[in-house]
Amino acid sequence: MPNNTSISTNVLFDLKGKDPSFAAEVKCRSGVDINLCWHCQTCANGCPFSQAMDYAPNRVIRLVQLGFQAEALGCSGIWLCVGCNTCSIQCPNAIDVAAVNDVLREMAIETGVHVAQPQILDFHNEVLNSIERYGRTHKLEIMLRFKFRKRDWFSDFGLGFKMLAKRKLEFLPSRIRDVTQIRNLFQPEADEAAPCKIKI
Ligand code: SF4
Ligand code: SF4
Repeated sequence: MPNNTSISTNVLFDLKGKDPSFAAEVKCRSGVDINLCWHCQTCANGCPFSQAMDYAPNRVIRLVQLGFQAEALGCSGIWLCVGCNTCSIQCPNAIDVAAVNDVLREMAIETGVHVAQPQILDFHNEVLNSIERYGRTHKLEIMLRFKFRKRDWFSDFGLGFKMLAKRKLEFLPSRIRDVTQIRNLFQPEADEAAPCKIKI
């Protein structure tokens, strides 16, 4: 059983100021009916990272159901989620918890709340930068740019050297034939989430 932070019972019953439109927007954007969750905790028990999360997956769902927007968007659980889909596969109600976490990460960035795990966001951004440049990932460059952001050059030096020696890391990036098609995916579009911005 995960040992996570929990909101006290008093706070849970104090729903004043909580935003009911938050759950509706998450449902609309993720396509997941979070109201089907009966809090069996199967997702939390199967999640390989729930012990490290402040709110385990079932608790994040609960925060959303109750309109605790700041807590859900500001928690570390949504960033420690690696999208392995174990929770989504095991949920008896077929709730796609990983898709909900995806939407919550997007909303956290959009609303400008303090990101609980900024280094994870930095890493995501470097992976996306690499895909935009080459159409695929160049792992050595991703790691070097990530290290540069952290100003941390030497902590994984030995491991990186071993990977290079075993040719697990390529020195030079390879590029797909038509990288423009991939770059087009990164062009900003009209606010896709606009139809889901529900005010109750
Ligand atoms: S497994 Fe599904 S129903 Fe059970 S707590 Fe997780 S999301 Fe809710
Ligand atoms: S998708 Fe995320 S929340 Fe679900 S089991 Fe994997 S790491 Fe845990």
